[in-house]
Amino acid sequence: MTNCFDLSSKVAIVTGANTGIGQAIALALAAAGADIAAVGRTPADDTVDKVRALGRKAVIVSADLSSIEPVQGVIEKTLESLGGLDILINNAGIIRRADSVDFTEADWDAVIDTNLKSVFFLCQAAGRHMLARGSGKIVNIASLLSFQGGIRVPSYTASKSGVAGLTKLLANEWAARGVNVNAIAPGYIATNNTAALQADETRNRQIQERIPAARWGEAGDIGGAAVFLASSAANYIHGHTLAVDGGWLAR
Ligand code: NAP
Repeated sequence: MTNCFDLSSKVAIVTGANTGIGQAIALALAAAGADIAAVGRTPADDTVDKVRALGRKAVIVSADLSSIEPVQGVIEKTLESLGGLDILINNAGIIRRADSVDFTEADWDAVIDTNLKSVFFLCQAAGRHMLARGSGKIVNIASLLSFQGGIRVPSYTASKSGVAGLTKLLANEWAARGVNVNAIAPGYIATNNTAALQADETRNRQIQERIPAARWGEAGDIGGAAVFLASSAANYIHGHTLAVDGGWLAR
């Protein structure tokens, strides 16, 4: 019987692969057998070294995803340097915090452009290639704020709710054509993205007290879910946003 989680001979794009959840996903996919295009604005040298140490190929693809200008080049460079494209992980994302009454247009546009606009156009560009071949897996990184409102992060909530919606829309269009589009909603994961929350003693305690698993998540906690959704084990899963949150949403 074949291992339905095996990703040998697959090529995966991971955006924001230099650190945090993106790096952990890249390493988990590589450990399952995939070659990695590590996409981002900060070169992912450390990730690439670690992927190669696992015996897989890895390339750095420089791209600032605050605009969609680099999108087509990301797909082309991946195809040229790794010879295919089977998996897209849309992980790169930012957050801006301020009271809604004071929230600026700049903080609105920056987050929506990176977290939502570039995600859609990367899905489109990768999707065109995958649809032409009749197979592919796309995993978008959503958030608990795809389900909940949050506070003081209006553009982030709008972007991540949008990501969950787009994931369903694309699944509706592409599921019958061999392309799976799903998402992962990480809970509270200790990365740069949540440094301000971790540093705030009161918020840190409140968060931990509410998590049934009674701890912050680690970036590595997300890797297995990404391997699952990128593998043939998930062939009949479409349009789903999978919470990996230590039980937060169950509370
Ligand atoms: P992180 O450590 O801040 O990593 C964010 C990644 O996105 C970095 O690689 C960053 O690259 C990249 N990125 C940001 N803006 C970019 C741009 N314009 N172009 C290219 N790459 C860009 O945060 P993280 O926690 O790992 O976040 C990864 C994803 O998970 C994000 O979508 C985030 O919203 C989501 N998420 C995180 C949590 C959490 O608790 N940590 C919870 C739910 C969802 P640079 O290093 O160059 O900035």
